[in-house]
Amino acid sequence: MKRILQLLLVAVLALAVVLVVNTLWVPAPHPAAEPSAGVAVDEALAAERLGAAVRFATVSYASGAPIDTAAFRGFHAFLERSFPLVHQAARREVLGGLSLLYTLRGTDTTLAPVVLMGHMDVVPVPEPNLPEWTQPPFSGAVADGFVWGRGTLDDKTTVLAILESIEGLLAEGFTPPRTLYLTFGHDEEVGGRYGARVMVDTLVARGVRPAFVLDEGGFLASGVMPGVPGRSAIVGIAEKGYLSLRLRALAQGGHSSMPTGRTAIGALSRAIARLEAEPFPSSLDGPTRGMLEAMAPYSPFSTRLVLANLWLTEPLVRSQLAKNPLGAALMHTTTSPTILAAGVKDNVLPPEATAVVNFRIRPGETQQSVMEKVRRTIADTMIHVEPTDSARTDPSPVSDVGSDAYALIATTIRAMVPGERVPVLPYLVMGGTDAKYWGPHSDKVFRFLAVPFGEGDVGRVHGVNERIAVKDYAVAVGFFSRLIRGLEALP
Ligand SMILES: [Zn+2]
Repeated sequence: MKRILQLLLVAVLALAVVLVVNTLWVPAPHPAAEPSAGVAVDEALAAERLGAAVRFATVSYASGAPIDTAAFRGFHAFLERSFPLVHQAARREVLGGLSLLYTLRGTDTTLAPVVLMGHMDVVPVPEPNLPEWTQPPFSGAVADGFVWGRGTLDDKTTVLAILESIEGLLAEGFTPPRTLYLTFGHDEEVGGRYGARVMVDTLVARGVRPAFVLDEGGFLASGVMPGVPGRSAIVGIAEKGYLSLRLRALAQGGHSSMPTGRTAIGALSRAIARLEAEPFPSSLDGPTRGMLEAMAPYSPFSTRLVLANLWLTEPLVRSQLAKNPLGAALMHTTTSPTILAAGVKDNVLPPEATAVVNFRIRPGETQQSVMEKVRRTIADTMIHVEPTDSARTDPSPVSDVGSDAYALIATTIRAMVPGERVPVLPYLVMGGTDAKYWGPHSDKVFRFLAVPFGEGDVGRVHGVNERIAVKDYAVAVGFFSRLIRGLEALP
């Protein structure tokens, strides 16, 4: 008995040693960046230009309502007036109707080019929210140290900051060593089917194999990750797939006084209940595991101990993550019933009941595998399952965080906040971005919006009082100028 206890004690001690050694092996956090000069930019003038950009109501409507093409063309002309050097140096093409592709030829055409993406369209502002706006959403007002309005975070800031930085670099006599492609979509908010897709197809057809692609998608903010104090930056390295399935139950209609057999509503309800009772399995692999590993160096010792020993702690971490909807969504394909329709009269059995269930597919699964699991789970010949007409995509491939391109982006992010030790964490984007169209063609597609988000800013994207601090917009311009200068060092 004593011997068993002794052995047990030795085993526990050995385990403790392994856990602690693993924890101590976690690499040291990246040091804070030294202050470095971006391109010289007149903050006030740049802010005024961003404000002017907001005044073009380049709205995409999810309802499919027609867009204001004059607003887009006006915006194109505004860009031409505002950034004359870029328009002199680069070739500009209008593709997909209203999207813009700029080619700024590098001095060494043997180097792989870089693609910087942004989008010109914005989401509408719901009428009832109008009184809540401090400044009207399309005023582009510069007031109280902010530029106000739709697009100041998502995503005219990116378009303007890219052009502002290149205009400044050209004024300084800079010529890019490698070719830059700028692609500014006009329909990102409704899937990018006519803008980004066409531009990607065009570039791929021209043989373009980018060193990397950068689009919006991640951000820099405080409180992004529980357990990591201060600000963190998250960089999207993959995005989830998208699939909506229509479930249709057909039954015999008739009078409600004499129901026969199974009803359409009953069968459909059971199918949905089964899907919810059997969610897709969770997994801590891919981008989410990478995110946790990248968090470890910046976490307090107790958290680091857990993150450095995922081989043992994975079930614990999974159950912790699963407690909130975001954490759960990072780990599995989500199941969301969103539309339900059946019946017209209280005394008539409907012959048909339908539901739409939306799935966001995690890397590792496909539309096909999701559809198969749904059919298996429902296991009911009364239920017909088919995709709806809405756009559907497989999850994107996962981009390479070991690449020089990722390292350059991370370094450039740290330079946004000199003196601050900011973790740069890879992550899985839940929504969709225009970058998805590069998925099949490049394993270096990254997503980051170069704006330091302030308190409450995450909720202002697509929300009320979207705005950006004038000084933060200058930070965004600095990000792109450092990134473009840094391309020289890229192998
Ligand atoms: Zn956007």
